[in-house]
Amino acid sequence: MEPVTVIGAGLAGSECAWQLARRGIPVTLREMKPEKMTPAHVTPWFAELCCSNSLRGAGLENAVGLLKEELRRLDSLILRCADATAVPAGGALAVDREGFARMVTEEIRNHPLITVVPGEVTELPEGQVVVASGPLTSDTLANRLLALLGDGQQTTLNFFDAAAPLVSFDSVDMDSAYFASRYDKGTPDYINCPLSKEEYLSFWQELTTAQEAEVHGFEDGQVFEGCMPVEVMARRGEDTLRFGPLKPRGLPDPKTGKEPYAVVQLRRDNADGTIYNLVGFQTHLRWPEQKRVFTMIPALKDAQFLRYGVMHRNTYLDSPRLLDRYYRLKSQSRIAFAGQMTGVEGYVESCASGFLVGVETARRLKGQAPIDFPQETAIGALGLYVSNQTVGVFQPMNINFGIIPPLDHRVKGKRNKNAELSQRSLAIIEARREEILS
Ligand SMILES: Cc1cc2nc3c(=O)[nH]c(=O)nc-3n(C[C@H](O)[C@H](O)[C@H](O)COP(=O)(O)OP(=O)(O)OC[C@H]3O[C@@H](n4cnc5c(N)ncnc54)[C@H](O)[C@@H]3O)c2cc1C
Repeated sequence: MEPVTVIGAGLAGSECAWQLARRGIPVTLREMKPEKMTPAHVTPWFAELCCSNSLRGAGLENAVGLLKEELRRLDSLILRCADATAVPAGGALAVDREGFARMVTEEIRNHPLITVVPGEVTELPEGQVVVASGPLTSDTLANRLLALLGDGQQTTLNFFDAAAPLVSFDSVDMDSAYFASRYDKGTPDYINCPLSKEEYLSFWQELTTAQEAEVHGFEDGQVFEGCMPVEVMARRGEDTLRFGPLKPRGLPDPKTGKEPYAVVQLRRDNADGTIYNLVGFQTHLRWPEQKRVFTMIPALKDAQFLRYGVMHRNTYLDSPRLLDRYYRLKSQSRIAFAGQMTGVEGYVESCASGFLVGVETARRLKGQAPIDFPQETAIGALGLYVSNQTVGVFQPMNINFGIIPPLDHRVKGKRNKNAELSQRSLAIIEARREEILS
């Protein structure tokens, strides 16, 4: 059988290649790292997480928890590696960044049906192709895609995505910080850095006026709300951060027994606990400014920054006009897209689209009927949303219960309702599991 070419070994491409190979389809996986790096990737590993190390909420009362559980039950490579390299993170699934990416890389490289071909792809190959080159697709390939899809219409859209800095644990002043989880739930996994009112106000003032790095074409309005630079959020008002990432609720300082005025949280970034990231501190300040302003947080006064935050333009397709529910190009079904470039937003969502493309492409090549992932499932809801032609202004989409049909009966309380929506979906997945896995 002719191999399927998958371009890009990120979250989507790795999952897609794996799903094809586990169904007996040979894969040529083409990845340009480490020869050529995108502006946000820094390691040679596949499935590199370029910002947070969190795959977000783990519970079934939230939609990304459901999406993960569906993928887990359907033998997703990314979920298996994430579970195996998880680090404590309260109610979230966070991973040891490097351990996770190394494991995905080894699994892919060791699979007998996957051939990894290094180097940048500059032309769209012949045959069956899955383009999973991500929001930072190299310029040459991006131009080729534009020429292919263009036809005089607007085919791509943009927004900006920012990454948060990392600091070494050694450099955090633990006399000014404390381990705790919000409302004492679960284990105390986060380091909490309290600020008094005076400290917060001086920090906030400096943050709103600090010098930003030049990013061509960036204006505050063009950010994805879920990944907004901390300085942009700060400019929205004095208290915006205190109701957002610096919320002190449920985090009393053990020294005083009281909730501080504001709290910066640090989440463990590796299994050894030697690296922590600043939760919600996506930023595009100039690097010296990040050091100057973030070290105003008392516990970070001597912080050693192992990586500074960066921001990049994130390009995605106008998918409702271009793709079908299996992320295939309507005009040429030999070409499918997967990952963030389809307009799904986030690590898990990118993985889910790669999963669906892998399953469907394998089935089609084997002459099997497509699996109907209905809108009641999170995997299906994402594909249906992205290809929904009635969506006028297409925006990047995180999985959420709003794109899943409601229950046909009333349930009291949002958490209970969401938990029931999840159970409904998982029952569908269980009923089709054998067929999907076959
Ligand atoms: C700066 C930034 C921060 C982000 N932060 C988060 C976050 O904190 N949480 C979150 O959930 N999501 C975040 N995202 C969004 C998104 O979930 C990630 O970008 C995710 O990695 C997308 O997965 P992907 O597989 O589509 O692309 P990627 O993971 O980027 O994988 C694409 C791969 O294709 C390769 N490639 C590109 N062009 C070529 C070519 N021409 N030839 C061969 N290979 C090529 C790249 O090297 C890369 O390995 C962020 C995005 C950006 C840009």
